Amino acid sequence: MSELGFSTRAVHAGFDPDPHTGAVNVPIYASSTFAQDGVGGLRGGFEYARTGNPTRAALEANLAALESGRHGRAFASGMAATDCALRATLRPGDHIVIPDDAYGGTFRLIDKVFRHWGIDHSPAAVSSVDEIRAAIRPNTKLVWIETPTNPLLNIGDIPALAEVAHAAGAKLVVDNTFATPYLQQPLELGADIVVHSTTKYLGGHSDVIGGALITNDPELDAAFAFLQNGAGAVPGPFDAFLTLRGIKTLGVRMDRHCDNAETLVEFLSRQPAVSQVIYPGLPEHPGRAVAETQMRRFGGMVSVRLHGDVEAARKFCARTEVFTLAESLGGVESLIEHPAAMTHASTEGSRLEVPADLVRLSVGIEDVGDLLADLEQALS
Ligand SMILES: *Cc1c(COP(=O)(O)O)cnc(C)c1O
Repeated sequence: MSELGFSTRAVHAGFDPDPHTGAVNVPIYASSTFAQDGVGGLRGGFEYARTGNPTRAALEANLAALESGRHGRAFASGMAATDCALRATLRPGDHIVIPDDAYGGTFRLIDKVFRHWGIDHSPAAVSSVDEIRAAIRPNTKLVWIETPTNPLLNIGDIPALAEVAHAAGAKLVVDNTFATPYLQQPLELGADIVVHSTTKYLGGHSDVIGGALITNDPELDAAFAFLQNGAGAVPGPFDAFLTLRGIKTLGVRMDRHCDNAETLVEFLSRQPAVSQVIYPGLPEHPGRAVAETQMRRFGGMVSVRLHGDVEAARKFCARTEVFTLAESLGGVESLIEHPAAMTHASTEGSRLEVPADLVRLSVGIEDVGDLLADLEQALS
C-alpha cells in the first residue's frame, strides 16, 4: 500500500470490506479466544487475544502503512509502547541518550524505573547533533529523540542523528507523536523505530488511550511482538477500533490544526503580554530550516512565554473559555496547559525542567475566529 497517497492509506490500509457481510469497517472483535479446527488449527491466525485480535491487527497494519513501515504493533498506551521499545532493546549496563526536554512520562520511566534495572541515561539537546554525539558512550544502545520536542518544540535533524547513532552502533528511536506520520516520516529519514502515543493526533478525538511501535526491522518487530504478548500491555478491540476510526481523518485534521496554529502564531507574535512565541514555522525559530526539510508543515502545537512569570501563565490558563485547561494534546478541541505544574511537573529540579512562564497550546480544529477571540480576552 505504500505507493498510495497518505490519506488513501489512512482510510483503507489494514482492512478490506468484509467478504461475508460487506462491512466497510473492521468489526470490534470482542473475543478473547478463537476456536481451533483440531489442536493448533487456527482459522484466521488468531488463538488468544493478548497475542492477537483481528481489530488490533487491522490497526497495526494501518499504523505500519501510515509510517511507510513494514511492521506495526499497537499498545495500551504510549507509555506501554515506550516501555516495550526500551525493554526490547536495552540490557543492564546499557546507556541511552534522551532529549533534555523529553516528554515528562518518558523521562520519568527512564529516570525512575529503568535506572533501577541498570540502564543509564544522558540528556542532550536534540537540536544539536554535536551535543547528541558527545553524549554517546561506548555502551549507548539507543538514541531516543522527539521532534518537535514537548513542550519547547525544538527540532532534531533526523537523518543527521540517524547517522550519528548508527556510527556508534546504536539505534535511533523517534517519538513521532507531535508531528504525526502525515507531517513527518522518520523511518524514511533513517530512524530505526517510530513510537507514538496514538492517544494524541492519531486517535484525534481525546476519547482513547493508545500507543504504537513501527519498524522496518523484522528482528526488532519480533522482539516487540514477544514482549507485547509476554508482558501483555495490549489495547482492547474497542480501543483499536476507535483509534482506527480517528486515523481515517488524520490528513484533513492535521491541515486544519496547522492552518489554525499558523493564524494564532501570527496573532500571538503581536501581543505585548507575550515575551516569546515558540513555533517551528517561525523564521526566527532555530530549527526552522531543518523542520522545512523533514516536515510537510509545522504542526498544531504552539508554546508561548509570558511577561509576568508563573502568575501570568497561570492566569492565562485559567481565563480561556474555548481552550480547555487540560493535559494532553492532539484532539479536535483546543487545549491549554501550564507544563511546569502539569505535564512536566516530574522534571522539576532536573535538567529537563521547563520555564515557569511557559504555556502550551494544542490548537484544535474549531473556527479560528473563535480561538483568536478567546486568546485575546484571556490575555487582556
Ligand atoms: C502523551 C505522550 C506520550 C505518552 O503517551 P500515553 O498515551 O499518554 O501513554 C509519549 N510521548 C509523547 C510525545 C506524548 O505526547
